[in-house]
Amino acid sequence: MALMYKSTRSDAAPVTASMAILKGLANDGGLFVPTEIPKPDWNYEELMNMSYQELAFAIMREFLTDFTDEELKDCIQKAYDAKFDTPYIAPVCQLEGTSTFFLELYHGKTIAFKDMALSILPHLMTCAAKKNQVKNEIVILTATSGDTGKAALAGFMDVPGTRIIVFYPKHGVSPFQERQMITQKGDNTYVVGIEGNFDDAQTAVKQIFNDPEMAERIGKAGFQFSSANSINIGRLVPQIVYYVYAYVSLMRTGAIKAGDPINVVVPTGNFGNILAAYYAKEMGFPIANLICASNENKVLFDFFRTGKYDRNRPFVVTSSPSMDILISSNLERLIYRAAGDDAEKCAALFSQLSKDGTYEVTEDMEKVLKDITGYYCTEEETWETIRSIFDRYHYVIDTHTAVAAGACRKFKEETGSTLPTVIASTASPFKFARSVLAAILPEENFEGKDDFALIDRLSAISGMSVPQAVEEVRTAPVRHTRVVSRDGIKEAVSDILGV
Ligand SMILES: *Cc1c(COP(=O)(O)O)cnc(C)c1O
Repeated sequence: MALMYKSTRSDAAPVTASMAILKGLANDGGLFVPTEIPKPDWNYEELMNMSYQELAFAIMREFLTDFTDEELKDCIQKAYDAKFDTPYIAPVCQLEGTSTFFLELYHGKTIAFKDMALSILPHLMTCAAKKNQVKNEIVILTATSGDTGKAALAGFMDVPGTRIIVFYPKHGVSPFQERQMITQKGDNTYVVGIEGNFDDAQTAVKQIFNDPEMAERIGKAGFQFSSANSINIGRLVPQIVYYVYAYVSLMRTGAIKAGDPINVVVPTGNFGNILAAYYAKEMGFPIANLICASNENKVLFDFFRTGKYDRNRPFVVTSSPSMDILISSNLERLIYRAAGDDAEKCAALFSQLSKDGTYEVTEDMEKVLKDITGYYCTEEETWETIRSIFDRYHYVIDTHTAVAAGACRKFKEETGSTLPTVIASTASPFKFARSVLAAILPEENFEGKDDFALIDRLSAISGMSVPQAVEEVRTAPVRHTRVVSRDGIKEAVSDILGV
């Protein structure tokens, strides 16, 4: 039977890939997971000679089984084009003389890795709508910890038949991230600040998705909700591609031969990016160690070390805000696998999580979880990592990537592993110029300095030119000023849609 998508929380009938993309979340509140992970007999030499777009097609067609080849190629061509500032789309950069490689996922429109998936999601979604005879306008409802919001807005801007509403924690994103969002162009874009943190925004958005009264009300007005968050399978699948691309890039440079194992380190928040790497491993690509890097919000580190997930802890605001998350939604997909694809067991754990904020895996689940090792970095260690990599290699990484690079160092020290290691580099350092500069030049005081002045300073000391995406934000007028309390999110949606 062709690969389909089923819920992590019940054994309701599986749906097609296009339907899973349209719906975002399953009716029972679970996440869609593929009924199997495809494991073809890969021809590495062939994959190695493919362009990013060709490789994307080879991987994605395994998962998006009800899209025709033409449809899928069309989506890929529209997504991975000159919006990216390099024809490699996701180039790999080796730290000279080391076995460490940075997979740069920040060459898209908003200079962060979420562009990798959000450049293609709108096309997958409008294609999915056509395939399923959807007449309603699709309303994308998204909670963001910073980067998703802008990348989703950029992806959906003026895409016919769609509107997008983005909620962000008013005091939980960098001034630059906020400016990127509130200057967003497009007649179908809405940006709302909330007085609360990312988890508050995400919880409220999930509640709206699961609210039958709301669904009926907007349905009457000709709308239906969908999600651009990393829970959407249409985001997860495109993310698998770049791990395979990194693997064959290492082959191309001669760092590895076909079939050699590598390690992968991913700076993790909502667990989407690392789950894609896990799926790549399940597809047969030889990832030996998969390392989940956390910042001081180390709920995942504790989980992988102890088997107990416990969100009951203070929320720490760090210099890697896109990882400041206490409920990592995509972890549910791994738990489901660990539970032996047992939806009932998975549902029980997640109902416990929503009730008590905690759950513990059973012994039989621990085998699967062994595939992933947790490490974390303190703020100090993160800054130290940025500084030492800049001093030694004149290579600049952002704070999120630095958490992963620090975790990588700890892993190597602890295990003595010398395998080539790919670190997912998730944002351009220009996006977090203040923190990056503070790390590189600790004796200077940047307080009170404008973000754009710091961006220019970073450009000067690093010799890298300021990305075009930053220049656009510098001059754009503010278009979005709405701020609501965390209890006001549902009302804001009604108001925006006029229902
Ligand atoms: C979103 C984000 C992450 C975390 O990715 P997840 O898929 O949520 O785990 C890490 N770094 C940056 C820069 C991000 O924007």
